[in-house]
Amino acid sequence: MRIAKALSTLGCCSRREAERLIGEGRVAVNGSTVAHPSLTVTPGVDDITINGSAVGSSPGRVYYAVYKPRGVVSTVRDRHASQTVVSFVPSSLRLYPVGRLDKDSEGLMILSNDGAMANVVTHPRYETEKEYLALLDEIPSDDAMQRLRRGVVLDAQSTAPSSVSLGDQEGRGVWVRLVLREGRKREVRRMLGAVGYEARRLVRTRIGPVQLGDLRPGNYRALTLAEVDGLMQQADRRLVVAIDGPSAAGKTTVGTQLATRLHATFLDTGVLYRALTLLAIERGVDENDAEALAQLAATLDVHVRPPTVADGRLSDVLLGDRDVTSLLRSPDVDAAVSRVSSHAVVRSPLVEAQRRAADSGRAVVVGRDIGTVIFPDADVKIYLDASPAERARRRAIERGNNAQLSEVLTALEQRDQQDKTREVAPLNLARDAIVVRTDGLSIDQVTDRIMQIVEEALVLRRRSTEQRATGAFTQRRREPQAGPRTGSV
Ligand code: C5P
Repeated sequence: MRIAKALSTLGCCSRREAERLIGEGRVAVNGSTVAHPSLTVTPGVDDITINGSAVGSSPGRVYYAVYKPRGVVSTVRDRHASQTVVSFVPSSLRLYPVGRLDKDSEGLMILSNDGAMANVVTHPRYETEKEYLALLDEIPSDDAMQRLRRGVVLDAQSTAPSSVSLGDQEGRGVWVRLVLREGRKREVRRMLGAVGYEARRLVRTRIGPVQLGDLRPGNYRALTLAEVDGLMQQADRRLVVAIDGPSAAGKTTVGTQLATRLHATFLDTGVLYRALTLLAIERGVDENDAEALAQLAATLDVHVRPPTVADGRLSDVLLGDRDVTSLLRSPDVDAAVSRVSSHAVVRSPLVEAQRRAADSGRAVVVGRDIGTVIFPDADVKIYLDASPAERARRRAIERGNNAQLSEVLTALEQRDQQDKTREVAPLNLARDAIVVRTDGLSIDQVTDRIMQIVEEALVLRRRSTEQRATGAFTQRRREPQAGPRTGSV
């Protein structure tokens, strides 16, 4: 493994940070300063130091996969149980089960002394996938399979959508495979019960990238570094980047590029307000008639999808089944959109549609109130800005030869003024936003800069996850019987 990757896997720093430390001559392997980040090392074998301090050694983090047999409890200690899952791994270190698995259930458990990893695996926020095989007496009906997939109501709350499929038959019974992203108490058994079936056996076969494989009941193996790295990467799964700023600051172009690099969903929320404005113009609704506009907004049937026409479009916008992309930037829409979107009653029906962009886990969302109203908890908030002259120049180029620079500038400034001074959700700088000025920078340069900000934010988030988790493990050490928050089935 390359030294930079090893340092990030060991949780010392990000790869980028590792490369910087190596460049500064602060990393040594077996006593020699590392000259280049391509050097390969074996963590746990090679002696790695940063600024002379050993990394990846004492107190030593260890990770095991264990097959918990049926009938064994998954807590550290249980007064009533002769044996707990921890006793299967002979170790002088204090190991803790990561999450829980019912006494009646069997299969994969991870044991470790790494609180940060445990937090990522068990905290609902990170939605680590867990896969189960349930043995039923008969093949479930199609209706039951559909209900399991969509979610069933447990404790007055629907379970999250899950992937459910039929596996092998065994005698007259059948194995059903379920992949869940949440871990409510006895969830799998209760889900099956809710649709009229009972699990004769329930085996957990996977946690994130870690497979049970051919482990036998009571056996264990050490996790590979790739598996540990994979588990930690779940921490980066949820990522919302909010980009706000005035018109023509480059939000859409940069946002699209960023979304591609981050494998995230992209949403330009401006198109929602533009589609609404277009509809209002077509229906003859006045831009000041808040009530009539609110009615249009409440039933607005707008969809944004990746472009199907190769004319430089960043997305296609459909109003009903009509492709309205080319109509959204007309002078009429431009002139009315800010007034239309200034009404509170128009904005609130569009909030949910915007928040759904984060359903996939990773999203880059651009607009005017994304960091302040739509995603106040966004992981990264950017305020993209450029001088009015620069923004007008870009917009004029976009519009083609006939565009008069001075007219474009006046229209932009008017719209910005309206957006900044309206009463609801005005465009302003969120307290925790980072301002990126784009004058004189290329699109790539701006995207690079924001990528850097995102990476730094992820490193900080990992660190704070680690700190919180260290606290949680210390607490658990004092109360060995207290279980983790989630993860039982
Ligand atoms: O970004 P774009 O120029 O397409 O946005 C058009 C208009 O839509 C903005 O000037 C603003 O009035 C409105 N808008 C908004 N809130 C958003 C996005 C756009 O009010 N989140």
